[in-house]
Amino acid sequence: MIIKELFSNLAILVSLLFLYSQITKQKPLNRQSSLNRKIAIGIVGGIFGNILMHYSIHIGDIIIDLRHIPIMILAFYGGAIPAFISMLLIIIGRLFYGINLASFLAIALIFSSTIGAVWFSCFTLSTKNKIILTLSWNNFVFTIFAIYLINDWNIPLVLIPTYCIISYLGGFIGFYVINHLRSIQLLFEKYRNESTIDGLTGLNNYRNFDKLFNSLINQVTVKEEKLSLLYIDIDFFKKINDRYGHLKGDEILKSLGEILQKCTKSYDVVSRNGGEEFTVLLLDCPLEKAKEMAENIRKTVEEFPFYALEEKIHLTVSIGIACYNETTLKAIDIIDDADRALYYAKNSGRNKVCIANQFTEK
Ligand code: GH3
Ligand code: MG
Ligand code: MG
Repeated sequence: MIIKELFSNLAILVSLLFLYSQITKQKPLNRQSSLNRKIAIGIVGGIFGNILMHYSIHIGDIIIDLRHIPIMILAFYGGAIPAFISMLLIIIGRLFYGINLASFLAIALIFSSTIGAVWFSCFTLSTKNKIILTLSWNNFVFTIFAIYLINDWNIPLVLIPTYCIISYLGGFIGFYVINHLRSIQLLFEKYRNESTIDGLTGLNNYRNFDKLFNSLINQVTVKEEKLSLLYIDIDFFKKINDRYGHLKGDEILKSLGEILQKCTKSYDVVSRNGGEEFTVLLLDCPLEKAKEMAENIRKTVEEFPFYALEEKIHLTVSIGIACYNETTLKAIDIIDDADRALYYAKNSGRNKVCIANQFTEK
């Protein structure tokens, strides 16, 4: 019966950990998390501890369960704050089951267990050894209290080994489950980022540009706002690769990404659309302002000190601009129009800014 009930406690713990991983999906808890987050997650841990306590088994005045495991996990990942908050809520919850010697010992047990978890989690040991140490400490204190509390010697003989086995098992399974769920979350985050971000420059990739562009053209058409697009292409980049090597070429692409971010506002959409082609989407930006920004980018690139060893690399870009609703009457056409303006800039000498449907050289 004891084993059956403690196993159901274990099953509840695993379900709660799954729930916890869903709650913290966007931002898993760590020691650098904000104070508010640590407090909130500490409260969640306290609720989980109380749920485990509610489904615990009663042996005389003693209640045993896995309430200490959420505290240990919080201590390991988030440090003292979430662990102590969760401990406090568990202590309050325990007092609802009666105020007697057993409850005071239970409070002393959870307190020493929390101190141990917080302290041992800072040791420079492997995670596995730290978990063994923390669980052993908890089981040791439990054993002392159980011997002290129970008069009938037959009970501790069953209770103590059963508790220790389930506590070790619960601890290891708990840590395994949470670790596994965290690594799945991190991988998921990584793949989600990689599906929208260009790996070399950290800018939006073409897929994300396309998605953002489609939502922006709907927005500007409804709200009758302006939308400008700069289509930027490095001049003679193939020659730069041939002369200085592909790695240097990659470095230049990265630096150009940084220049574009510096020359634009945080809400502008800067993307690497492929190879050595970049775009900047300027929301609610009239043609005049877009021209100014494009010229600033062109000039900044031309004057930027790109070096290969001691040699200065002369790098320039050509830029095509289209603006809804000044150069282009249908928002969806600004890509084609900016691309045509870029083509014109290339064919008429490079290192210049050209405007769609005007082909006025700047
Ligand atoms: P243009 O002035 O007409 O644009 O000439 P270009 O040489 O820049 O254009 P072209 O389309 O002939 O060549 C583009 C070059 O960009 C070819 C390719 O080696 C280089 N490139 C594309 N993607 C990458 C990349 O990720 N890294 C590096 N290093 N080079 C790249
Ligand atoms: Mg080029
Ligand atoms: Mg190109």
